[in-house]
Amino acid sequence: MLSLTKKTRQFIPQDLKMEWSALEPILISLLNREIKNVEELEQWLLDKSELEAALEEDFAWRYIKMTCDTKNPDLLEDFQYFATEIEPKIAPYSNELNKKLNESPFIADLDQNKYFVYLRAIENSLALFREENIPLFTELQITQQKYQGITGAMSVEINDQTYTLEQASNFLKDSKRSVREEAWNKIQNRRYVDKDQLNIIFDELVQKRHQVALNAGFENYRDYMFKALGRFDYSPQDCYDFANAIETEVVPVLKEMAQERADLMGLTDLRPWDMDVNPEGKAALKPFQNGDDLIDKSIACFSKIRPDLGEKLATMKANNLFDVESRMGKAPGGYNYPLAETGAPFIFMNSANAFRDLTTMVHEGGHAIHTFLTADLPLNDFKHCPSEVAELASMSMELLSMDQWDVYFDKPEDLIRAKKEQLADVLKTLPWVAVIDQFQHWIYTNPDHDASEREEAFKQIFTRFGAGFANWEGYENFFGNGWQKQLHLFEVPFYYIEYAIAQLGAIAVWKNYTENPDKAIDQYLAALALGYTKPMDQIYETAGIKFDFSASYVKELISFVKTELDKLG
Ligand SMILES: [Zn+2]
Repeated sequence: MLSLTKKTRQFIPQDLKMEWSALEPILISLLNREIKNVEELEQWLLDKSELEAALEEDFAWRYIKMTCDTKNPDLLEDFQYFATEIEPKIAPYSNELNKKLNESPFIADLDQNKYFVYLRAIENSLALFREENIPLFTELQITQQKYQGITGAMSVEINDQTYTLEQASNFLKDSKRSVREEAWNKIQNRRYVDKDQLNIIFDELVQKRHQVALNAGFENYRDYMFKALGRFDYSPQDCYDFANAIETEVVPVLKEMAQERADLMGLTDLRPWDMDVNPEGKAALKPFQNGDDLIDKSIACFSKIRPDLGEKLATMKANNLFDVESRMGKAPGGYNYPLAETGAPFIFMNSANAFRDLTTMVHEGGHAIHTFLTADLPLNDFKHCPSEVAELASMSMELLSMDQWDVYFDKPEDLIRAKKEQLADVLKTLPWVAVIDQFQHWIYTNPDHDASEREEAFKQIFTRFGAGFANWEGYENFFGNGWQKQLHLFEVPFYYIEYAIAQLGAIAVWKNYTENPDKAIDQYLAALALGYTKPMDQIYETAGIKFDFSASYVKELISFVKTELDKLG
């Protein structure tokens, strides 16, 4: 039951070597194949997809291994080999294959219901393709990876012990204020040491990205990325409006909550190191002991939602598809990386045995379920969901799993605390997403800015959305540097507003769950199983919710969360 077997390849060799000399003949044969009817066209799509899946899984493993050990130069080299020797050579062929498909007379005979979304994406890629961007993409890929090396090497000494920054942030939950202040200062100072180096890397990224956009005929990288990310359903203006709605509907709620926190703590002034600690002086929640315990409890938690969901995580465990504990030399962050041929994903995270690691695990676990549910879709591209959909899967799981969190907590009062922290985090997500999104709009529509102007822009935007609801006086330097901790800015530009869109969706899914749990979970799973075979609004509809982020919808959902929070006492 728990074993994973890759499907037997039908077209490409079972033992295909990932070398250009082996790959090029396959690409040429696809390009030259004569297609005489719609059946042959569909077979050609399946064969092309099989090659794409093999390439994707190979790249996935190179990325996974590198992020698990950023200090190993061989693993970095393996990754870079693909990025510099394989990808750039494939790109022009992919474009030719897209053209071949687009010009096929049999395209009209394809079932539009099944292929509409796919064909729309092909047209989009054709419109964006520029030969001169291929080397730029390679350079960007290489430069982006420097962020991981630099941040993965960051550590601090506290009480003569060395901690990764993830581990050190546990001290921000210490009930003694001086302990928190010291840890906070050490973390901020450590980040500040590499500030200039990261600024230089970022300047380079902005310039190259801007050039990519110009080459493709766009005025700026923002407009290019809206097209490249396939944002067919909303515009930059919608993002500005969404940010305004968050500012008016969410920021005041969080200000109020910060005031309650200050009152409980007996402080007149909350400082940045006062925001993560339990305001009643209780010790930090401890939902599990170590990485293995986290995995086992999460399997139990998912099994309680639906037995087959737990079994999926158990299958991953049995096949060594987790690396969860934080350690020196690991890349920052967490991810669920689908393995296209295996049909299961790899989950990577930096657990420091804290409560937020539980939420990261159920989040990534939601992505993992999505990977399993889409594994058998016929084309590899059917499995590539836009992030507004992918994050709906993961963020909904954070909330849907809450009723089963008793597996992590023995004491009922701890479970209640955990739920309250989770709901507060849901609210806190929204202004931070608005900050990062609006900051990116500014960055890429002002491509000629310098590092100090960028810092100034960040300060203004962060302030508009509550600045973390703390008083930063005396730490203006750290305040302006806060954006550097956000990996997305470096590695996956413009991917961020999706979290807020999906967060609203997840609240709506959870609202349905509170009314009818079984039905809501059925709808959620049905939406995930669609992969990206339907337009976004239809996927959201299948999940039982609206694709919407208007001010009135924000207001409605935030007041629902507020009510649920109040119910918890
Ligand atoms: Zn995610």
